[in-house]
Amino acid sequence: MRASNPSKRVAVVGAGLAGSAAARRLADAGHDVQVFDKARGAGGRLATRRAEWIDRQDAPRTTRLDHGAPGFGARDDRFRAFVAEAVGAGWLTPWTPVWSSAGLGVDERAELFVAVPEMPRLCRELLAGIDCGWNEPVEGLLRGGARWRLRRRGVVLPDEYDIVVLAMPPVQAAPLLIPHAPGWARTAARVAMRPCWTLMGISEPTRAPPGWQAARPPQGPLDWLIRNETKPGRERRDDEIHWVVHARADWSAERLEAPGEQVQDELEAAVDDWLGESLRWKHALVHRWRYALPPVEAVEPGHLHWWDRLQGLGVCGDFLGGSGVEGAWLSGATLADAVLASGTGARGRGRASGADAAAEAA
Ligand SMILES: Cc1cc2nc3c(=O)[nH]c(=O)nc-3n(C[C@H](O)[C@H](O)[C@H](O)COP(=O)(O)OP(=O)(O)OC[C@H]3O[C@@H](n4cnc5c(N)ncnc54)[C@H](O)[C@@H]3O)c2cc1C
Repeated sequence: MRASNPSKRVAVVGAGLAGSAAARRLADAGHDVQVFDKARGAGGRLATRRAEWIDRQDAPRTTRLDHGAPGFGARDDRFRAFVAEAVGAGWLTPWTPVWSSAGLGVDERAELFVAVPEMPRLCRELLAGIDCGWNEPVEGLLRGGARWRLRRRGVVLPDEYDIVVLAMPPVQAAPLLIPHAPGWARTAARVAMRPCWTLMGISEPTRAPPGWQAARPPQGPLDWLIRNETKPGRERRDDEIHWVVHARADWSAERLEAPGEQVQDELEAAVDDWLGESLRWKHALVHRWRYALPPVEAVEPGHLHWWDRLQGLGVCGDFLGGSGVEGAWLSGATLADAVLASGTGARGRGRASGADAAAEAA
């Protein structure tokens, strides 16, 4: 969709999938888009850790472990079309893991998709050619003369924008929204994101090689066990297993502020219990996802994003789009479509969606 109005300056805050999808569509429509993220690169929770360690021969090694979303499904037709294009372009590839037979309730035919060779590639490709600022934590939005400016590390940046898109977990978006959209800020602050402690690392092979590539234990502390080296396009070696293990949300919540060493010991013990043998780790570490997944129930049924066309302020993310990677993409893509359809900043142009109406009431 080409921009019906003259090109606008757009700041997208957050380079996860929601922000990347919105940025790509708005840039393709001719808008001048700039992306800001507090992290060192794109991807957000589509994350891959480059674990650096020394092997037994004293050789330095770097092993990539996808410690955020392990893979994702595609159900919505719009998302399926995007995924098909990304598969065609070689950014994504299907992965139908062999599931542990103890993974009760798993649909063993379910096709997942993974980015190759690591998860953030999907966002990096979407952002190709777009001006991105890394290590840029945005901590305030200022509005004056119908334009936006951003504050970061106590400094108000000189650039002005017609539109700001916030594409970050709701708890982080809430403080930025308070002065401009207090109703949204209240709703965002109330969203109870679910945490996840993740154990990842490299072990020696197990006594009997697991006949599975992914497992969903039906009970206990562990939610997912993934053998990362079995995913397409990942490094594989006969003398190693590459693990990513996600703890359940309730278990993680109970230990949210616990020291990492304690959580690592508990998770390693839980893995040993599940496998029925003591894993010999070559390298292992834990990561705490404070905001891993939104609640299962929709935050605002029927609203995939929030868009206030009068202020030129939009919000997207998995918490609005319906959870997970698909929800994040749908939220960002539909927000961009709403921006383009409404004619930015022009009162009354374009049909107000439910979300637009909600924005105006907020
Ligand atoms: C452990 C784990 C397992 C998961 N498993 C699955 C799964 O099996 N299937 C599935 O579909 N989904 C899964 N997910 C969820 C999926 O990864 C997310 O739904 C999706 O990636 C969210 O994308 P997003 O763009 O909405 O947010 P994010 O990816 O969180 O992106 C937000 C971005 O905003 C940036 N940011 C935040 N605040 C600021 C600020 N103030 N200034 C600048 N930048 C800021 C962050 O650095 C981040 O890059 C999992 C997630 C985790 C963590």
